[in-house]
Amino acid sequence: MINVSGLNKSFNHFPALLDVNFSIKRSEVISVIGPSGSGKSTLLRSLNLLVKPDSGSLKIGDQQITAESLTYRQIADFRRQTSMVFQHYNLFRNKTALENITEILICARKFTKKEARERGMELLTQVGLSHKADAYPATLSGGQQQRVGIARALSVEPQVILFDEPTSSLDPEMRREVLNLIASLAERSLTMMIVTHEMSFARDVSDRIFFMEQGKIIEQGKPSQIFTASSENRTRSFLHDFA
Ligand code: ADP
Ligand code: MG
Repeated sequence: MINVSGLNKSFNHFPALLDVNFSIKRSEVISVIGPSGSGKSTLLRSLNLLVKPDSGSLKIGDQQITAESLTYRQIADFRRQTSMVFQHYNLFRNKTALENITEILICARKFTKKEARERGMELLTQVGLSHKADAYPATLSGGQQQRVGIARALSVEPQVILFDEPTSSLDPEMRREVLNLIASLAERSLTMMIVTHEMSFARDVSDRIFFMEQGKIIEQGKPSQIFTASSENRTRSFLHDFA
């Protein structure tokens, strides 16, 4: 369902992504691990075109683009295929939990206000926050804010949800509530790519793990292979640091 080939991105001549290639099937859960600065965020942001790749072709669902020849129309259509969950939640501070979800449905998906409210409440219920519909982000815990961020990402029914270190800003107990929610989404056959430093979570929920270093996916495989029988010294030494 996702196909990436020959993806490159440099920042001021520094190669953040170097000839990245991979495919992902529908319903697969992929965790992307690797040291800081290895290009994990740039990879996710390229899939959402928050970063414009220098070269390469990307296909998600029925939308295919080539980095060198992108029209505004293609960018808009391609962005609709994914939604992103950020480390710092990126909620609108001046909107309630519910409004954070309905805004995008009304503005980008042409829902009526009533439809958007109904859908928004349904999603808040799914993430266990229907009682916080009218609360502003500042009055919510970090874990609750991230659950609103996840409800918002789900609201547009994307082909794939991209998580960039969704628990890195959270205290350990809030981390658990957010990881449990993401694990429950994995059970629902959603297609997800998750950049994470939570190794035991990655091992438990992922179908495959991508290990990145210096702008490349240098190893990929099932969790059992990556965590116990990695063929790469660099993966082994990275995982050793987490043990
Ligand atoms: P990771 O998420 O694995 O920590 P990133 O994708 O954020 O890595 O970054 C990969 C490399 O690209 C890093 O060296 C980083 O400094 C650089 N980089 C990322 N985004 C930008 C940017 N907007 N401008 C300049 N350099 C960037
Ligand atoms: Mg990052």
